[in-house]
Amino acid sequence: MCDTDGDASPPGRAPHRRMSRRTVLLATGAALGAAAIGADLFSPPQSATAAGTYLRPCGDVPISSTWQGHRNRKPPSGEPGTDYAVAIGTPIRAATAGVIVDRKDTTDSATGRYIALRADDGNYIRYLHLASSTVRNGTRVSRGQVIAYSGASGFGSETGYGSHVHVSLWIGGTPNQLGFTNTVNFENFVEGGPLPTYPEDDPVPTHQSTDLATSVALPANTWTTIAVAAGQLYLAIVGVGVVETADVSLNLKANGLTTGLQVRLVAEKLASNSGPVVSTHPQPVTEIRATAAAGSPTQGQHAQSYQLAGPMRLFVQVMALNSGVTLTGVSVRKNYWIS
Ligand SMILES: [Zn+2]
Repeated sequence: MCDTDGDASPPGRAPHRRMSRRTVLLATGAALGAAAIGADLFSPPQSATAAGTYLRPCGDVPISSTWQGHRNRKPPSGEPGTDYAVAIGTPIRAATAGVIVDRKDTTDSATGRYIALRADDGNYIRYLHLASSTVRNGTRVSRGQVIAYSGASGFGSETGYGSHVHVSLWIGGTPNQLGFTNTVNFENFVEGGPLPTYPEDDPVPTHQSTDLATSVALPANTWTTIAVAAGQLYLAIVGVGVVETADVSLNLKANGLTTGLQVRLVAEKLASNSGPVVSTHPQPVTEIRATAAAGSPTQGQHAQSYQLAGPMRLFVQVMALNSGVTLTGVSVRKNYWIS
């Protein structure tokens, strides 16, 4: 039995609860980039311990990525924390009594929306990727009080991740004082001790992010394959004997749209790692409607989960429904597991 957090197993701990990779895929988020947002005006605390008294944000739910798992990522998470797999809109409860000292209401950056709690014991806790928060800066909250609702926000999108809440804990100081990477394992400080987590041989997702400033003229009513990174047409290339499971979201920006822009993924089954193509499998289409303001760029999103059993490739196609459309931006957020 392995323990991804490196903690000693407490006697009588519950049986190891393993999420399947598929469950993890549907339930969880991904690598968290560096995120140093918000100043803190509080002085260093007098006391810094609260082991064994904190509440989990959403009760006894599966952990989709451990604190150690965040640290094991390549590159390591910029703010290691514990990911609790919950559906969007799940109430989040304060771990302990304290004061809300920071709150970000926009979806941008790796954190998405967040709220920060300065605990009365001097510790500092952040809840990331929220759908919304219910308390303002400066509000005193009690242990167990609902302070937010979970989401999947990040990278400028409501669905920048799979749905989950990420909890970061700093002991005896703010992230600005201690460093954003210098968190501790929140699970070690909750009432009853750490939840079992999935084994360390279950890989953590790899997070791929790409932002392309592009200028591609799109012929009307024709599927056009677009690059998902500089010089890179394929969202995935999976070799013989390899399975890749992922969730992906694409954010697209286009000028000249008066009707709509359609987006889809297309999978190709190959005869070998280098081809030829055996069969082609277009995936469901999202239609991004033109925004009302004439002349302004239209933005929209396409999201899909997939599993590819190699040899396969996956690419992205778009189709403008009117002429004169230019694709001006593409961003790709992909969380994937390879087996
Ligand atoms: Zn996380």
